[in-house]
Amino acid sequence: MSQSNGQEQPIYMDHHATTPTDERVVEAMQPYFTEVFGNPSSNDHTYGAEAGQAVQRARSQIAEAINADPSEIVFTSGATEANNLAIDGVVEHYAEPGAHLITCVTEHKAVLDPCKDLREAGYDVTFLPVDHQGMIDLDDLRDAIRPGTVLISLMAANNEIGVLHPLTEIGQIAKEHEVLFHTDATQALNYIPLDVEAMNIDLMSLSGHKIYGPKGIGALYVSGISPTVRLKEQIRGGGQEKGRRSGTLNVPAIVGFGKAVEIAIEEQAEEVERVRELREELWEQMRAKIDDIKLNGHPEKRLPNNLNIALPGIEAQALVVQTKNRIALSRGSACTTDSVEASHVIRSISNNGDEEFSSFRLGIGRTTSKNSIDPAVDVLATAVRRMKKVKL
Ligand SMILES: *Cc1c(COP(=O)(O)O)cnc(C)c1O
Repeated sequence: MSQSNGQEQPIYMDHHATTPTDERVVEAMQPYFTEVFGNPSSNDHTYGAEAGQAVQRARSQIAEAINADPSEIVFTSGATEANNLAIDGVVEHYAEPGAHLITCVTEHKAVLDPCKDLREAGYDVTFLPVDHQGMIDLDDLRDAIRPGTVLISLMAANNEIGVLHPLTEIGQIAKEHEVLFHTDATQALNYIPLDVEAMNIDLMSLSGHKIYGPKGIGALYVSGISPTVRLKEQIRGGGQEKGRRSGTLNVPAIVGFGKAVEIAIEEQAEEVERVRELREELWEQMRAKIDDIKLNGHPEKRLPNNLNIALPGIEAQALVVQTKNRIALSRGSACTTDSVEASHVIRSISNNGDEEFSSFRLGIGRTTSKNSIDPAVDVLATAVRRMKKVKL
């Protein structure tokens, strides 16, 4: 890829923030802007019916990927809305004042903020701690459950440190105690086989643009059978999505999301191996060329495309800015990087060091090839060397 001025594009290593839309996805979407433009709710003519069929196909593609039924998929504007709908929707439908929810300190803000608002509103929320590798303790989870607990919300894969939560074990615990289990699987969908039935998941948030689909589309899986989960709708109007989320469906984006999911699942096994190898190569080279470097998160229980690295004494924000014309990386969650605020995830695993200021994330993906690794390491190692020299 090169820009019109002939300058090389920076190497993209921020696939946790977003991914480019796959060409095959764009192609699948194309007819739904101009030719098949009907409103899928308009059943009285073929324009609407054809659009409706396309939506149904996407619903099936997504359902199949997670072993759900198409009727259990609710389209939303993204994972942020899906998380809000899951948490507020369940609590408002089921909960008596004083009801209790359980989540975790390293969740995405789209889970943490609704939970904090509910706490303000008088609900009781347990924010489980994590250890220095970012893992929750399942005994902490068991101990936190009590009469009145309505929901456990724990993410499948962390968007900053890539840590994987043990979904099957959590689902089992939730089921034993008859508590609903919601998981934000936005980052996991690409790389982790998901099975809502085997994992006892009642609600699951997904997003299009993290899996090479379009932005502004996502879904909430809502279990329709044993148990049938009911939600208080958060967006009211025409009653689309069986009253769970009103608003005219974004047909092209839905078609693209379905296609992106299909491709992700089809290529998952191969892509996991490919990115894992590249990630290992990247980490080995970084360790060889940069002194005093530390991996944040769990060494094995992490996404295969993720590295989160601490460089004690180095200001990560300065490193990101200094190298930005050569490599696109980020200090953490894209949603919080506008502020100079340190990452809440790194802070919660920090060992009293300066990790929250010295850490950055490398997220590789489909745009990463073997040829990206050497130049990326070069740029970073050179910048770190320069920064250390300035300090002396
Ligand atoms: C990106 C992300 C979100 C937000 O998804 P949008 O579709 O951009 O709203 C939520 N949770 C996690 C874990 C994410 O990585």
